[in-house]
Amino acid sequence: MTLEVRKFGDPVLKSRTAPVEEFDESLSRLAEDMLKTMRDYEGVGLAANQVGRLKRILVAALEDQEYVIVNPDIQQTSETSEADNEGCLSIPGVNVEIERPTSITVTGYDTSGNPLQIEAEGLLARIIQHEVDHLDGVTILDRTDRESRKAAMRELRERLVARK
Ligand code: ZN
Repeated sequence: MTLEVRKFGDPVLKSRTAPVEEFDESLSRLAEDMLKTMRDYEGVGLAANQVGRLKRILVAALEDQEYVIVNPDIQQTSETSEADNEGCLSIPGVNVEIERPTSITVTGYDTSGNPLQIEAEGLLARIIQHEVDHLDGVTILDRTDRESRKAAMRELRERLVARK
């Protein structure tokens, strides 16, 4: 089932998600629905609060590989970082430059409750950090500098006006 992606202004995007405690059928279903939603929207990642669920779970995609991480926890980040443009399905039409560590080690669980660990670098590291931010109630607008945020807010306002 494709889920509705919540947009900028929805308080759920500012909410911290709660750790998953039950690895049950409804968790697997949520993961499947999030993967389907990500594909339908042609996104590269999605966090559960973006579809209105306050659970600590993310999905990500890079090339042919898809990832589901329950209770993701970034254990290590590289000292080297890199700035690049990021967009967000919840903030359509906005791209802002964000500096992030180039590689990370993330641990978590699959939907059956088996522990997993991923060493990610480059784009995958960036996607996972973006989604973990979401799970903590943080969006790209909170991560960028003041000037970029102002420009992004202007863009968002214009889009809102144009929609009326
Ligand atoms: Zn996002």
